[in-house]
Amino acid sequence: MKATLTVLGSGTSMGVPTIGCDCAVCRSDDARDRRLRPSVLLEFADRHVLIDTTPDFREQAIRAGIRKLDAVLYTHGHADHILGLDDLRPLSFRHPGRLPLYADAHAARSLRETFGYIFDEANTYASKAQVVLNHIDDAFDLFGARIEPVRVMHGDDEIHGFRFGNAAYLTDFSDIPAASKPQLRGLDILFLDALRHKPHPTHSTVENSLKLVEELAPKRAFFTHISHDLPHEETNAGLPPHVRLAHDGLKLEFEI
Ligand SMILES: [Zn+2]
Ligand SMILES: [Zn+2]
Repeated sequence: MKATLTVLGSGTSMGVPTIGCDCAVCRSDDARDRRLRPSVLLEFADRHVLIDTTPDFREQAIRAGIRKLDAVLYTHGHADHILGLDDLRPLSFRHPGRLPLYADAHAARSLRETFGYIFDEANTYASKAQVVLNHIDDAFDLFGARIEPVRVMHGDDEIHGFRFGNAAYLTDFSDIPAASKPQLRGLDILFLDALRHKPHPTHSTVENSLKLVEELAPKRAFFTHISHDLPHEETNAGLPPHVRLAHDGLKLEFEI
């Protein structure tokens, strides 16, 4: 079936512009150089599935006109991917029954530690987010689509990206283990982490992700989790035509 992916945020953990920074990218007039924290929205079969709740989620939801959510998938438990969970409140109140969240052990641990007041069943405060946490390890069916967690290494942490239909979204990783690569070969759309040019202990770089594009041979690749080291226009000019930096608001269609 047809599906749409909307980039809600393409920036690294501190966002771009970064608070107090006067670099050329942080002061750029190009809207594509303004990057909220990393997240995407999937739409298929009249369902709305969010990947990660960033600290910018409220602004992202309003900007994208999100009026309902049917599920949230978590890639991992770092602050830039979970801190907007409390802002699921209005959407969770509109959801019939609790809004389902899907997380692996790493993400579930962070969510429970950070948002104890939400997951504490003894706390019956009526206006807390109405959510239920489901643990995932393997592929599962979500509203008629197959969602496959893809195991990646984010520094020393084993976390997940997701493959869905002929697309995959891998936001934070420094290495893709060989065992995960068969899930990622020959896709129509592949999102990869590309923080900057300079090596980083927990993130991929433009150069490393370009090698992965060559190896995994997607029709189109998009780089995300981008820092203020990469000006949009200038960086794109140096990339092959089927590889682009993602930008906030980018919308893509694919088969799920
Ligand atoms: Zn991140
Ligand atoms: Zn992270």
